[in-house]
Amino acid sequence: MLRTIILLTILLGLFALAKGETVSAQTQKEYIAVALNDQLVSFSDAQPELIGGTTYLPLRAFAEAIGATVEYDVKTETVQVVRKDKRLTINIPDRWMTTSTGLSTSLPLYLKKNRLMVPFRTVADLFEYKVSYFPQGPIARARDGAGRLEDAEVYLSNQRKIAAEKAKLPDKIAYLTFDDGPNEHTAQILDTLARYEAQATFFMLARQIESHPREVKRMASAGHGLALHGVTHNAQVIYASAQSVVNEMEQCNAALTRVTGIRTNMARVPYGSKPWMSQSYRDRLVGAGYRMWDWNVDSYDSRSLNVTPDQIVREVVKQTAQLETPVILLHDRKATLAALPRILTHLQASGYDLRPLKGNMPPLNFWNDRR
Ligand SMILES: [Zn+2]
Repeated sequence: MLRTIILLTILLGLFALAKGETVSAQTQKEYIAVALNDQLVSFSDAQPELIGGTTYLPLRAFAEAIGATVEYDVKTETVQVVRKDKRLTINIPDRWMTTSTGLSTSLPLYLKKNRLMVPFRTVADLFEYKVSYFPQGPIARARDGAGRLEDAEVYLSNQRKIAAEKAKLPDKIAYLTFDDGPNEHTAQILDTLARYEAQATFFMLARQIESHPREVKRMASAGHGLALHGVTHNAQVIYASAQSVVNEMEQCNAALTRVTGIRTNMARVPYGSKPWMSQSYRDRLVGAGYRMWDWNVDSYDSRSLNVTPDQIVREVVKQTAQLETPVILLHDRKATLAALPRILTHLQASGYDLRPLKGNMPPLNFWNDRR
């Protein structure tokens, strides 16, 4: 009995570890080309990338390039890659892989443009390729008996193509912002963002910060934007004077600093800055060192208590259609959480990278006050 319990504890511990393992979106992503034997592999949408010295690539595209079959089971969120007697099974929610060679271990993975990104070496090793890294390019190469060229020759024969790929315009950026949290939905919002390797900005209320320190710390370590939404969320109280707005942001900032050690200059006033934040109010807020953020896409997720996920997705899709740089208003709510995977899928498929707002960016607001 005791032995069973210990074994279970170990197993559960391993799973917890596997679930926690994620590719940090904070890390710099760099270009890398992938070669199979003597040819570069082309990827139609999501491109391979180098993150902290590891090459990640879209699993399906690479599997197809090596002549393996790929099957995805929607119910269990499991992917199987099979070629001859070799089999790789990946459980996506658990970030866990098992292989026909007897390996069972955690696997860092993420979604990019709705493609499953996995470490190149793991897949190449299993299907018995020799993996090499050629720093010019750079090129990550999988090679078996069919490869004739040296790494340098692969590079030289593809130099122009690599240069063209590298020069491609960077992705457009969309900014997701979540107001009024953190609360009981925030942990799952953070899980979803991590799955899509997306980052967002949280405009938080002081009391919510105090009551959900774990989530706030998680936001900080995942590189999300930490921002302020005041204390009372009561228009009559916060807009009583220009100084009362500043006071609420200062109190909120103090809560943030107590929990994370971080102080921020990003503030969003409740209900948006019009009509209350007239010139004198803004001058006072800017004078206190803050930048005032509104939005240019309203998901209307807080318009009533029974807004559906479908309505939220539709609003975001419609309003982002013509925008180069959407700043999207969302809230830490159940329906928003349910809508989030579709919102992320849509934005990433439309070429947007999802990034946090930064304190050094000129703010977007309804007064066009860029201070
Ligand atoms: Zn609010």
